[in-house]
Amino acid sequence: MNNLKRTEILIAGGGIVGSLMAIALAENGFEVVLVDPSSETSSQTNRICRSYAISRTSKILLKNLGVWGNLDEKFEPITKIVLSEANKEAMDVTKLAEFDLQDEIKEPTSYMVEDLEIRTALNLKLQASKNVEILTNCKVLSEEVAKGGSIISLDNDKRIYASLFVICDGPKSSIAKTINKKFIFKDYNQVAIVANVNHKNRHKGEAHQIFFTGGPIASLPLKGNRSAIVWSEEKKKGFHVSQSKKENFLEELKAKLSNVLVDISLDSEKYVFPLSLSILRDFVDERRVFIGDSAHTIHPLAGQGLNLGLRDIASLTEILVNGKKIGEDIGSIGLLKRYEQWRSFDRFLLSSYTDGINALFSNDNKILRALRRLGLKAIDSSTNLKTAFMNEAAGEYGHLPILLKEM
Ligand SMILES: Cc1cc2nc3c(=O)[nH]c(=O)nc-3n(C[C@H](O)[C@H](O)[C@H](O)COP(=O)(O)OP(=O)(O)OC[C@H]3O[C@@H](n4cnc5c(N)ncnc54)[C@H](O)[C@@H]3O)c2cc1C
Repeated sequence: MNNLKRTEILIAGGGIVGSLMAIALAENGFEVVLVDPSSETSSQTNRICRSYAISRTSKILLKNLGVWGNLDEKFEPITKIVLSEANKEAMDVTKLAEFDLQDEIKEPTSYMVEDLEIRTALNLKLQASKNVEILTNCKVLSEEVAKGGSIISLDNDKRIYASLFVICDGPKSSIAKTINKKFIFKDYNQVAIVANVNHKNRHKGEAHQIFFTGGPIASLPLKGNRSAIVWSEEKKKGFHVSQSKKENFLEELKAKLSNVLVDISLDSEKYVFPLSLSILRDFVDERRVFIGDSAHTIHPLAGQGLNLGLRDIASLTEILVNGKKIGEDIGSIGLLKRYEQWRSFDRFLLSSYTDGINALFSNDNKILRALRRLGLKAIDSSTNLKTAFMNEAAGEYGHLPILLKEM
């Protein structure tokens, strides 16, 4: 074992979750190696048009870790969420509920952040982090648990010994498959088509979600007269739409969003993502923990997948810091089980909630149609239910880790 490289924590996956996990650990004095197959961590290739709705607590996490910087100038606060349903025959819509997210005392509940900007900020911070060694152009192939640590083998013949192995290799985790981990899996038979658009009218910070039978379409405010579109559609039709000519695509988009955006033109390429629910049954083992999309991939209709991953980071950091303080082994199953316990409810809540909403709305059944209208009208007229909805959008529920609180 003498020729092995040694580190305290090895992180597999330099996406947004892996990169921020590395920063959080390094800021708290851990020695970290971060491994990613791209030529740089948080690689920007082919991803420039993506954006995410992130919650107030996610923003606080980025601020507390020194990543937010001047991003206020670049990210758009969401002032209102409007939920509507398309009427069956016509292209008009019925408004079902409206949530005002502006709070005079607190910061906005959610922001739209653009992928390119967040990855640039993460890369800058990572490069300045003394405790992080970044290994790019290589990936983790396998791992074996050894005495007091794990031996992780990379595809460049390097082997690294770490006390803890943190896995954030994204949806359909190849590492989880290699070690035969079991998933709860459901193919939604849907894809999400993602693009940025320009439009003539001002969006005023409003986010709209309109439910069609094939799936919901969301229009989310970006800086300027621009919006991000997330259009979920039945798989076959969705692939067809995503591959159609620009003019045909725009024509269909304009019809779907005629009540919201005026004079739309494309501001980016369009990208397509197959949608599934994929939840790892056990996300901790001795020496090993899965976080972010590798542990839980959910439907994007609530814009919560990344927020869930960011909350993983905050809780795991706190458990590891507290454990190390009292001399615990940071890879021990006892310590990792405490993390599992803390994160289980949030994972369960969001995966079942997004799955249920998608099932309820993506179909044409008359009874369900009536029920969902009733349900949303009830929420719309109840202050308590609205507050619960907004707390969830802000990421403010359950026992919050220190990194999610204003310091
Ligand atoms: C259409 C759509 C819209 C969405 N909108 C929102 C939103 O508005 N708000 C929100 O909160 N969430 C949203 N999400 C969810 C969000 O995109 C994901 O939760 C988030 O990107 C997951 O990040 P990650 O770092 O876990 O995974 P990834 O971004 O997939 O990163 C995984 C990384 O692991 C690396 N890797 C892979 N294999 C290996 C290996 N063997 N060894 C080492 N590295 C490896 C990859 O190169 C990659 O860099 C949306 C998702 C979709 C599909």
